[in-house]
Parts: sequence; structure tokens; C-alpha cells
Amino acid sequence: MSDGTASRGKRSGKKNMVFCRRCGKRTLHVRKKKCSSCGYGDSPKKRSYNWKKKGK
Ligand SMILES: [Zn+2]
Repeated sequence: MSDGTASRGKRSGKKNMVFCRRCGKRTLHVRKKKCSSCGYGDSPKKRSYNWKKKGK
């Protein structure tokens, strides 16, 4: 099976991510109950990393 643009249409619709109520992105993992974007469900504080800082 080739892995490329041709296989994109064959992807099954199974996704473990649902919309996060805190950040609004679809980054909340269903089974982990954790948002990979803001950390909802894992930490009461917003998930953030130094390498994610905005700026120059
Ligand atoms: Zn989130």
C-alpha cells in the first residue's frame, strides 16, 4: 500500500479527537480526555510551552 496523496481518500473517519470546550479546536482526545492544544482535562492551567512562545 502506498502512502501518499493517493491514500488520503481511503482514510477511515475514525478520529479520537473531538472539539475542546476550552480552546475550541478539535484537539480533545476522547479516550485520554485531554486536549493536546490547551491541556484541558489534564491540567487546570492552560497548557503552554516555552518553544511555543510567539514573537521573534
Ligand atoms: Zn483545548
